[in-house]
Amino acid sequence: EVRVRIAPSPTGNFHVGTARNALYNYIFAKQNEGKFILRIDDTDFKRNSKEAEEGIYEGLKWLGLYWDEGPDIGGPYGPYRQSERLDIYQKYVDYLIEKGYAYYCFCSEEDLEKERKEQIANKKAPKYSGKCRSLSKEEVNKKLNKGLKPVVRFKVPDRIITFNDGVRGRLQWDGSLIGDFVIRKSDGLPTYNFATAIDDWQMRISHVLRSQEHIPNTFLQVLILEALGCEIPEYVHLPLLLNEDKSKISKRDGALFIGEYRDMGYLKEAVLNFIALLGWNPKDGEEILSIEDMIDKFSFERINNSNIVFDFKKLDWFNGVYIRKKSVEELVLLVLPFLRTTDYFVENEENYNKLVKIIKVEQERLKRLDEVKDSFKMFFKEPEYDANLIMENVKVDLKEMIYLLDESIKELEVQNEWNAQELEKVMRAFCDRIGVKTKILFMLLRIAETGSKISPPLFDTFEIIGKESTLKRLTSCKN
Ligand code: ATP
Ligand code: MG
Repeated sequence: EVRVRIAPSPTGNFHVGTARNALYNYIFAKQNEGKFILRIDDTDFKRNSKEAEEGIYEGLKWLGLYWDEGPDIGGPYGPYRQSERLDIYQKYVDYLIEKGYAYYCFCSEEDLEKERKEQIANKKAPKYSGKCRSLSKEEVNKKLNKGLKPVVRFKVPDRIITFNDGVRGRLQWDGSLIGDFVIRKSDGLPTYNFATAIDDWQMRISHVLRSQEHIPNTFLQVLILEALGCEIPEYVHLPLLLNEDKSKISKRDGALFIGEYRDMGYLKEAVLNFIALLGWNPKDGEEILSIEDMIDKFSFERINNSNIVFDFKKLDWFNGVYIRKKSVEELVLLVLPFLRTTDYFVENEENYNKLVKIIKVEQERLKRLDEVKDSFKMFFKEPEYDANLIMENVKVDLKEMIYLLDESIKELEVQNEWNAQELEKVMRAFCDRIGVKTKILFMLLRIAETGSKISPPLFDTFEIIGKESTLKRLTSCKN
């Protein structure tokens, strides 16, 4: 059975890198009718936070990546929080010591530092010498009885360690280059590699899909699993997502919380589609992918090797694509939360109907939902006028400007059919009649109506804002 997991630590923001991995694990599980498991790796008590754990649930739920087993819903191989599994780790540490695979180490930080310095001075790569390997049982007991708090180290064998990586094939590392590594710290807590190896085994994880910064860890985890005589999962290491400066997107560096993408007005479909292609692409080259398409097309062979810089422009492009796929009604519901945060939007039927009309003309242009907070404002609120803006963009003097506005008002006042098509016809004819270029008059009207030289199609805007308010705006603009 396929059983995959993500195992974030609740020590910072659940970010796009982790979300991408969650997605790959999720689609791989679905593709194979397997299970997608959420485990919380919370053994770093100093950095853990409740909010960070909440953020993991919130982020996964927003993206619709629901898990089959996890701390909140339980499952057959729980508990799913590492902090609740300490006795399990303890049991296997004891087992490995008993079988001679691990040993107590009493070396102090100072001892180790001295050793490192000597090795470097002798032009050797620093590596723990394994000094405590040779302590006898009696010596160990004497030290323990004295109350010394040792670490436990794993005896790294002098041989080639190897595992199969689903993207890179067979990988290997020479054990003689690796020092005996700590599996239990002096405070009794397991190290990351130990807890991870034990849990992946105990939770029957069949495939470990995680990012490539873990490749060195994988060798150590494989050693632990081999010593325990258990089956080794398949490892698939994915490329990393990088910030623009090529640094790894990381919790430690205050990466953006995935929920912030929602708050910035990205649709979850766009985020999912975008992150799906950060490290993988389908054979047919298709770019627009639903979750079902991904489940259909995902394969390890098409995972790429090289790290990827996160590109917001591309995400904006996907967002636009998915915004245009929405029905007007859906989009209204999606922008409402953003409008509710503004001081100009009052929720009532009239405004709701207006919103439907606005969406109809704006849907094409919208890239991010949060844009509506600024860009829809002029539909609901009279703009403030900037004399310079008019002077710079409408090449007429003040007298002529007032004349043009006055005449336009007269023309529009008698207009009974207030719709975009009709208004455009009338105002074009009006330009002909008084001998002014449409380019000039329409720019003036645009600024008068919206306060800006850029707007949706002018007469659609007139129609939405309505006759009364339009006349009022043209009058205010004059003054
Ligand atoms: P920390 O900075 O504390 O190590 P992190 O940002 O690396 O945190 P982890 O909780 O260590 O996040 O990792 C959770 C999962 O996210 C792992 O599968 C890890 O490989 C993956 N991951 C972390 N950072 C990235 C990244 N920049 N790109 C792709 N995957 C990442
Ligand atoms: Mg990490």
